[in-house]
Amino acid sequence: MSAPKVTALAQGSPAAVAGFRVGDELVSVNGEQPRDVIEYQQLVDAARLDVVVRRPGDELDRRIRVDKQAGQALGLEVSAAVFDRVRTCDNHCAFCFIYQLPKGMRRSLYLKDDDYRLSFLYGNFTTLTRFTELDAERVITERLGPLFVSIHATDPAVRAAMLRNPRGATSLRWLSVLLDAGIEVHGQVVVCPGVNDGAVLEDTMLGILDRYAGLATVGVVPLGLSRFSNEPDMRPHTTEEARSVLSTVTEYQELCSSTLGRRLVFASDEYYLMAGEPFPTADAYEGYPQHENGIGMVRAFGEAFEGDATAAHGVRPGFFAWVDGAPADGYRAPRSISSPPPRDGAPITVLTGTFGAPVLGPLLAGRGDRVRVLAVENRFFGGTIGVAGLLTAADLARTLAGEPDDHRYLLPDACLSKGVFLDGGTLDDLPRPVEVVAADGLSLRRRLDGTDATTTGRCAVGAT
Ligand code: SF4
Repeated sequence: MSAPKVTALAQGSPAAVAGFRVGDELVSVNGEQPRDVIEYQQLVDAARLDVVVRRPGDELDRRIRVDKQAGQALGLEVSAAVFDRVRTCDNHCAFCFIYQLPKGMRRSLYLKDDDYRLSFLYGNFTTLTRFTELDAERVITERLGPLFVSIHATDPAVRAAMLRNPRGATSLRWLSVLLDAGIEVHGQVVVCPGVNDGAVLEDTMLGILDRYAGLATVGVVPLGLSRFSNEPDMRPHTTEEARSVLSTVTEYQELCSSTLGRRLVFASDEYYLMAGEPFPTADAYEGYPQHENGIGMVRAFGEAFEGDATAAHGVRPGFFAWVDGAPADGYRAPRSISSPPPRDGAPITVLTGTFGAPVLGPLLAGRGDRVRVLAVENRFFGGTIGVAGLLTAADLARTLAGEPDDHRYLLPDACLSKGVFLDGGTLDDLPRPVEVVAADGLSLRRRLDGTDATTTGRCAVGAT
């Protein structure tokens, strides 16, 4: 187990006043060694802290005592969310996107986690195949919800085959335990055509209604396929298959509405694009509980663009909102990027992925010739990948090289994490100056209207 390492200190905070420094390792807090940032937070919530600190260069550990109010933020940022080891996934799903990444990307992108703590902290999906009695006890005692569980199929044999793990047949028993204990859980079904669509999807919907109706929501999403997939049975949906999935989801939404008083299941935006069918109305998303998973993003984006400042910006982050020590890494990381100053009066080109273009086109149509949408083909990943969040510097550079240099180019920040694209490139690698805009409708509208020059935002991978 590694000790939490201090990466930042809030000015004037109890931690700063008490004498902590960046680089300090927290050996123990009130005599205990936290396993993860959840335990860390619970410990540092106390009014009186006795922290054993290992400082680089010191021969001996030192003690730092803090007196503050119970529940008051300590003001430390620590280096990781989990201080023992992240529980890795022992499944081998044919549709796993991590297997479909090219070689040479950032190491952290290849980590297959199946850790309920990361589900709680970041909204990662877990299959529960490595979940234990002790985990259940902790989740229930500490009320660690919402959690996000991959279901895929409720038929044990189909689920085990999809996860390529015999425990896939039985691990949903933990879902029942969590739901019975009143833990909020959101589910997901990744649909692979020919595997768990059609009659299997119908059976899964029935199984959910029958055994897991306590789920808060269930997202139905298509598999993502990059050109690096080497699974012969994995293929994109046909238009007819996408329509069939939508028809099943709609059928069960109606059934759930009449029996549970809520829709429970929701299809991802990609299905409506693939099927060429209109998106549901805003109220049909019932508050956009799976917005960050690509469900309702298009509708919320449009609503925000038309001026609804309350349109959704993601799942409720739960505990994450109050874990002041949790590192904001991954797709929740704030994206602070400096952009070139806007050039007044220049034509504006809004860059997006091939999925975003048909959505943004109609929204921007009323703005005349001065504003246009430019779809950037994702050749880096290839396959079915068309969301803006997975655009890379290489694809943007290739596209921009053929574009006029007197335009303003707007880019959604969803494709950047701390200023770096997925392929490791940065804005400096692009042949044209690019303005980064938060990937929500309100921010884009304000930028087009010239009423907002901010370049910082929070958004999700997959935004239009
Ligand atoms: S459970 Fe998730 S991380 Fe693990 S193999 Fe399947 S898709 Fe990949």
